[in-house]
Amino acid sequence: TIPQKWNFGAGPAMIPRPVLERAQAEFLNYEDTGVSLMELSHRSETYENLNNRAQQQLRQLLSIPENYKILFMQGGGHTQFAAVVYNLIAWRHHQNKAKTNNKPTSDHWKDIPVDYIVTGAWSAKAVEEAKRLGANARVICDAKKSLGAFTGIPAEETWLTSDPEGPTRKADKEAGQTPAYLYYCDNETVNGVEFSFVPSMHDPEVPLVCDMSSNILSRPVDVSKFGVIYAGAQKNIGPAGVSVVIIRDDLLQTSEEKDGLSPVPLMLDYKTMVKNNSLYNTPPMFAIYMSSLVFEWLLDPKAQRIQDGEKEADKSIQQDLVGVQAAAARNARKAGKLYKALQESKLYRIVVTDEKSRSKMNVPFRISTADKLDPHAVSDKKKDEALEAAFVAQAEAKGLLQLAGHRSVGGIRASIYNAMPEEGVDVLIDFLKEFEKQNA
Ligand code: PMP
Repeated sequence: TIPQKWNFGAGPAMIPRPVLERAQAEFLNYEDTGVSLMELSHRSETYENLNNRAQQQLRQLLSIPENYKILFMQGGGHTQFAAVVYNLIAWRHHQNKAKTNNKPTSDHWKDIPVDYIVTGAWSAKAVEEAKRLGANARVICDAKKSLGAFTGIPAEETWLTSDPEGPTRKADKEAGQTPAYLYYCDNETVNGVEFSFVPSMHDPEVPLVCDMSSNILSRPVDVSKFGVIYAGAQKNIGPAGVSVVIIRDDLLQTSEEKDGLSPVPLMLDYKTMVKNNSLYNTPPMFAIYMSSLVFEWLLDPKAQRIQDGEKEADKSIQQDLVGVQAAAARNARKAGKLYKALQESKLYRIVVTDEKSRSKMNVPFRISTADKLDPHAVSDKKKDEALEAAFVAQAEAKGLLQLAGHRSVGGIRASIYNAMPEEGVDVLIDFLKEFEKQNA
């Protein structure tokens, strides 16, 4: 038997154990075909059924309305940074053209603004990519600038476009432009900053684009508020290799090359994917299969509770929740107890100071030997970092894996996605206490 390990990696992350076991059992003979799923034709009926089933499961889990399409794409989150720019500028261009009786108002990307809220490393990277592609990308809120570091989410009233009479909106009106979209990242995996709300202070004509790579399926979401939602699979869905895109179908009406726009690369074109039911080219079949097993696991009314070792008789736990509702309740409990333990300790410091923006998926923290109660206390950085390294190494030896913070920020980070059983969080909390006692 395999020794029990708790994997706190941010992604690729833990996959529910029953899902791995099921995949193992089906590995050599998929649905009585006599071959492995990976050897089947992606044009076979068996695969097409799986492709459709995975979409239906996701639609059910997130109550995705009929006027939204579900796509399976490749290239991870980074590819979506670019896909969003290409597709939605082409959409806005089409809108502009329709308004002016088919005379294009602008032939250039640069004339159409695209707006970004930057609350951490991943939204910052998305802006960078938009700029690199030549788009007129505007940062309407930069949390690092407003707060000094990525430790929270500035109030919506402070965002550049929140004032209809403010300079940004005025300039748009004068130029006869409406931004192609407003982009944000719902959960910043590196920084542990998560939105507790859906941005509302923006023009209803401007679709919201949201990167939910690290918190999709962790809680219910009102899909109807969004234009595009996307997520790489390797955190809360399945293995790396597939990205899920959920798009409102009116956004698929886009300008083409003949309208003077540079063409959207075929594999980034949401229309190509929709027209071909995500089967334009050979899809990452195994990743989609594994994702489908995870969806099925989430939809099973008992699976999540069994994983946490919950007893039917336990009245403190709401027993009738399923799907993402059940996941949300579990995630709130798991994150709640972890933050509480960190808060109560003298040794650990939670990085995200804005409590309502603390992620329930990724919990970054630091070790500091300075007196927590003394605001003037100076800590010995070298000593603290050595303790952090010792923490990560000792945890690893005890089967608590991948607790090092992202290489860009250091420190410690515990990622506790849907697949992390509550017991894993309990084991981590015990270790936190033990390590603190030893190093007091
Ligand atoms: N967005 C978020 C929120 C992420 O966490 C990540 C990866 N950690 C990415 C985008 C980039 O994803 P990929 O590595 O699949 O390109």
